[in-house]
This record gives sequence, C-alpha cells and structure tokens, in this order.
Amino acid sequence: MPYVGRFAPSPTGPLHFGSLIAAVASYCDVKANSGKWLVRIEDLDKPREMKGAADNILRTLEAFGFAWDDEVVYQSQHAKFYAKALNVLQNKQLIYPCTCTRKEIADSGNALGIDGVIYPKTCLKNAPVTNTHAAYRIITLDKNITFLDEIQGEITQNLAHDVGDFILKRADSLFAYQLAVVVDDAAQGVTHVVRGADLLDSTPRQIYLQQLFGFATPHYAHIPIASNLRGEKLSKQTLAKAIFPEAAPMLVFEALAFLGQNLPKETKNTRLDEIWHWAINNWDLSKVPKRRQVIADTN
Ligand code: GLU
Ligand code: ZN
Repeated sequence: MPYVGRFAPSPTGPLHFGSLIAAVASYCDVKANSGKWLVRIEDLDKPREMKGAADNILRTLEAFGFAWDDEVVYQSQHAKFYAKALNVLQNKQLIYPCTCTRKEIADSGNALGIDGVIYPKTCLKNAPVTNTHAAYRIITLDKNITFLDEIQGEITQNLAHDVGDFILKRADSLFAYQLAVVVDDAAQGVTHVVRGADLLDSTPRQIYLQQLFGFATPHYAHIPIASNLRGEKLSKQTLAKAIFPEAAPMLVFEALAFLGQNLPKETKNTRLDEIWHWAINNWDLSKVPKRRQVIADTN
C-alpha cells in the first residue's frame, strides 16, 4: 500500500512556527511509515501572495532538513484541472451561478453556519440574468458526513445545515481552496493528510467533493492549533515570527514537543539530523494532543 502525505503551504508569507509544526507532523508521519512526502504550493490566490514567499518557504524547509519527493506542485499551474473538475459537477447539475453580494447574503436573515450566514439559495431558486462575474456554488445535501479523524476522533457535519451551498469558483474567477485541494490530493495520490485543526471544519466539504468525483478519501489527522499568548492562532495574519535556519535544531525539537513526542532532554542540544532520526524512529501519532495550545511568540 502506498503511503503518501503532503505539506501544502500558501505563499502569503514566510514559514512560521505554526506552519513548521504542521510540516514536522506530516513529515514524521510519512517517514515513519516509509512513505512519500510531497510539497504543494497553494498559490491560487495571487492577490494574497507575497512575492518571493514560495521560494523562501522551500529554502527554509530545506534548511530545516526536510526532503520532499517528486517535484513541487504549484496550484497556479492547475487551473485547467480545476476547470475540468468543475465541468464534471456542472454536467451533473450540482453547481449553479450566484451573483449575490456578501451584503445581500448577510442581510438575508438566514441562519448562521460555521462559516457565517448560510447561503439562502437565492440564485438556485431564481437564476441570475447574466453569468458574467458569477461565482459558482455547489448544492449541498441535508445528510450527515462522518469521518474518523486520527487525532480528533469522530467528526460529523451536515453540510446543508452547518455550511450551506459553498463556492467552488469565485466571482473573480479564481477557483476555491475546497475544489483545488480535493483535485490535487487525488491527482497526487495523497493517502494521509496531516494538517492543522483549523481545517477540520473544511474536511466534510472535501469528503463530499471526493465522493462526487469518485475519489478515495484519504486518512485525516488534524493537529492542534498553536496560539499565541493573546489566544490567536499563529498565522501570518497574527504576525507569527518567521523562523530562521540557525535555530533549526531547537525549533524542530520544540515542534516535536508541541506534538507530544517526548524527546529525551539530551536531544535538545544535538545535531539536526540526530533530532530527525530520533523523531522519525519514535513518531507516535497517538501522543499528539487534541487541543489548542498556547506557545509564547512575542513580537
Ligand atoms: N494551504 C493551506 C494553508 O496554508 C493548507 C491546505 C491543506 O493542508 O489542506 O492553510
Ligand atoms: Zn446568489
């Protein structure tokens, strides 16, 4: 059985400690299972991209001792695959154009879901007069989607109630993350997704799409989110500190500690390759804690 994992950073800024934790987790999971580790740059949202960030992330990964298999994949090069996938859903009459503004949806008085107001299906009931500048939404079902997350346990969501008809292609004609990630995970043969728990809520949407396309659903393990002392998720938006190669052994050690892997204390001051060797040989997913943890990341 192939074992394939991936790290899929968005190049909106340099690698920070929160993303390092996700990279370490998926890398150890794959390498402990003699699998393949892929890197995919999720650069769909060009307006949000920071110039040079993709190269910077790759160089930082290398300096931290990560070695990826196969060539790095860039989502910006995959528009034709996403268009084809959208077409499949169109032929099944599962998507529809929507020209509603954010404000119209917010003012609809519809119930709140996990991602804001549930789209009231206005444009499904009444097709817009023109499709220029339309977003495309997928029809969701009033049906439970359940999966067993290897860290978070059993997760159930009803897409119609909890999310609503979500966007697969935006009005600015960019393909949405949910569609791209499903198409690429399948195309790359990804079998084990290890990523941050901020994406736990997205997983049922991705499973729904996998089922519609007839793709296998990978195993999922969502690692806890690292937050700063103010309780905010470490992210580019909260200005999490960039990480530097000079501190690689200490930072990898700390990422492993965050992931509940009890490295012997003497590993802390050893060489990077020895830390990796220990980490891969002793990787234990069942030790990864479920909950959000605070780490100091003062700026
Ligand atoms: N590109 C996403 C991020 O940086 C991760 C996507 C994923 O792992 O599915 O948050
Ligand atoms: Zn609409």
